Amino acid sequence: MEAQETCSYMTHGAVMPFCKGCGHSNILKKLNDAMASLKLDPEDVCLVTDIGCIGLADALFDKVHTVHTTHGRSTGFATGLAVADKVLASRKMKVVVLIGDGGSMIGLLHIVNAALMNVDVTVIIANNFLFGMTGGQQSSLTPEHFVTLTTPFGSMNPSLDICRIADASKGGFIARKIATDKDLTDVMAKAISFDGFSLVEVLELCTEHGTKRNDLKGGMLAQMAEHEGHELGIIKENSLRKEFSRKYESDVQSHTGEIKQPAFIEQESLHNLTKAAGIIISGSAGERVQSSAAMLCEAAVRCGLNTTQKNDNPVTQGSGFSLSEVILSPDEINYTGVSRASYVIISSEAGLKELKAQNIFKRIDNDTVIITDESIELSNNGYNVISLPLRKACGADKATLGAVDYAIRMYGLFPHEVFKKVIEKKFGQYETIFKKEFLTFWF
Ligand code: SF4
Ligand SMILES: [Mg+2]
Repeated sequence: MEAQETCSYMTHGAVMPFCKGCGHSNILKKLNDAMASLKLDPEDVCLVTDIGCIGLADALFDKVHTVHTTHGRSTGFATGLAVADKVLASRKMKVVVLIGDGGSMIGLLHIVNAALMNVDVTVIIANNFLFGMTGGQQSSLTPEHFVTLTTPFGSMNPSLDICRIADASKGGFIARKIATDKDLTDVMAKAISFDGFSLVEVLELCTEHGTKRNDLKGGMLAQMAEHEGHELGIIKENSLRKEFSRKYESDVQSHTGEIKQPAFIEQESLHNLTKAAGIIISGSAGERVQSSAAMLCEAAVRCGLNTTQKNDNPVTQGSGFSLSEVILSPDEINYTGVSRASYVIISSEAGLKELKAQNIFKRIDNDTVIITDESIELSNNGYNVISLPLRKACGADKATLGAVDYAIRMYGLFPHEVFKKVIEKKFGQYETIFKKEFLTFWF
């Protein structure tokens, strides 16, 4: 372990957690110096780290924002952060990704996409030619003949030139440096201040797995790059393309008037619930199960309730079952699944089959009301079942809607008038939506 002197962006008294001689220490010190040379407000910096030894940087930089992400996805997260900041917030955020060669291989398309977008993100690739944290396995950036845990006789492949990929993806600032280069700080500072996508690949040594197997010294990194045909230095510095948020402003926001604004649902009535009600609605695909649940939710919101709807259906969306779990609650809802059902609606055999497959009958009790089509046979387990000719009276396509309508009328969750208005918006006059029998059977 190496002691680390304190500085403005780093955790006071931080100790580098890396193996002795690991290039990561150098990279992070120089990154810190680069940010300091730019006098960045720590509030306006976000480091996005990837999985791997370099991802341990989070704990070393407690003055700036940090996000530790899943393997390879750091550039994707950074892209989202940068876009959100530039389009919606301060426009000042500098987002810097710290990723290893392994992560950059796993998340290569995120890097390509960030470069294509020209989003204001700096990607620093700590390239020690292998997956260090997991024992020294080969990555796509492992040079030919380089010995790793998984290439004991040397890699048979040449290494990927990620700088050329970034160039082909129209990235504006691209550099390949060595971790011990004196001007690495300046190059990183240039990359961070570049208005658009920038990438700095930094060649370095993993002393635990790289140097032990390859008899390498730092001075040989330049030779390795040359052997691979990989250019060193600042490869490209071209700010001809507009940074993404500026392009967004000119290309998208100029069409703002044409974009349909979301319609907010206004409260128009009061509900009758004193506690949350879980409603499980099941039936067949194509029979408006999930849209009936959505109409129930809309009407509930119009009555001042909080609602959630969790849908399920097989990948073959037009066949098999269709299921919705709805929660209506006067209070905030923190979990979208129904743990105990107040009402269960089963409008077809396919719905029943899926409820059984998902063990949903374990989520009911003696107070649960089960509304089924008369064709459904439930074994006599003491369930509180109301069997109705839903399919006959409402038609197959509106059997579920009829059952929801029935539940609202019979159990007074909120005024039926509101639900009526919601379904009329979609289907026209209420009296003509269902078959005549629906109205005469039950009311
Ligand atoms: S395993 Fe390799 S990359 Fe990880 S800290 Fe040690 S030397 Fe650095
Ligand atoms: Mg690595």
